[in-house]
Amino acid sequence: MLADKRASLLKNKEIFISCVVPVYNEENHIEDFIATLQKTLAALSDRYEIILVDDGSRDKTLEKIRHLPHPVKVLGLSRNFGKEIALTAGIDHASGDVVILMDADFQHPVEIIPVFLQHWAEGQDMVYGVRQNRESESWLKRNLANLFYWTMQKITHIDIPENAGDFRLMDRKIVDALQTFPERTRFMKGLYAWVGFKSMGVPFTVQERASGKSSWGFMRLTELAITAITSFSAVPLRVWGFIGFVISLISLIYAIYIVTVTLIYGADLPGFPTLVVAIMFLGGIQLLSIGILGEYIARIFTEVKQRPRYLLQCKVGFDE
Ligand code: UDP
Ligand code: MG
Repeated sequence: MLADKRASLLKNKEIFISCVVPVYNEENHIEDFIATLQKTLAALSDRYEIILVDDGSRDKTLEKIRHLPHPVKVLGLSRNFGKEIALTAGIDHASGDVVILMDADFQHPVEIIPVFLQHWAEGQDMVYGVRQNRESESWLKRNLANLFYWTMQKITHIDIPENAGDFRLMDRKIVDALQTFPERTRFMKGLYAWVGFKSMGVPFTVQERASGKSSWGFMRLTELAITAITSFSAVPLRVWGFIGFVISLISLIYAIYIVTVTLIYGADLPGFPTLVVAIMFLGGIQLLSIGILGEYIARIFTEVKQRPRYLLQCKVGFDE
């Protein structure tokens, strides 16, 4: 039933497609990109909207996207809030039957959009792109990514598909669900997985970035990984109880051993190195656990302040 309705919407070109594109310092190729995207969407449906979210670009991106030949909807954030928040702002303002998220740097091929829609028409609620080629990335980055996915798999209850990014299509009901998430520290890939619903992956090849460079350096990715883990798992918090228990147990056994040895062979006080190592080891473990507590508390702090997730400096093309 549902599949029939969706298929006929798609066939009659009546499906309302929202395309949300976060942009940050993309002045060199943004016009080309929008032209390409418009062409692709126009071929698929008579009703579509492109929502560009300018994430506080420092170059002429905002100016350029406000004066495009075929106007698009523009949300200008008041400063750089980061891609996760930019996507959130876009999703909040999208009104389509389906919402497609994609990057503005040509890395996500527009040719995949019809494939996404086809799967949606067949009944999938979320269709995500799975990148095929990670070879272009460094050995270190690839392995850290693998370690990250492995850890997430082990310590959270959500199943995040490997090598799937933000490039995806979501049905209206998923978009509605995402709009109810009030959290400020956002890891979108986790939230997509958390909501559930019927989803599937579609392989695609990541293209070269059209121009400029990626904004995701090592530090920013690490920060994102910590956000991911702290917002979906309490294991790093709770593991210290277990570690403390094991260390106490070992100490107890060692204490019994020392008492016994002293009773049998008399007192003798060697073991200065053992003492130093034990103190340093315990000191290290305690600082580490406090540090991890701190990560969680910092995020609780951000949440309880209840600040708005983003502020808009302009909103163009939306009818009020
Ligand atoms: N982006 C953003 N805010 C940021 C950084 C990036 O909106 O703070 C956008 C950027 O314009 C692009 C997408 O997010 O459309 C992906 O960014 P990028 O190409 O730098 O990352 P990568 O492709 O390396 O993951
Ligand atoms: Mg990119």
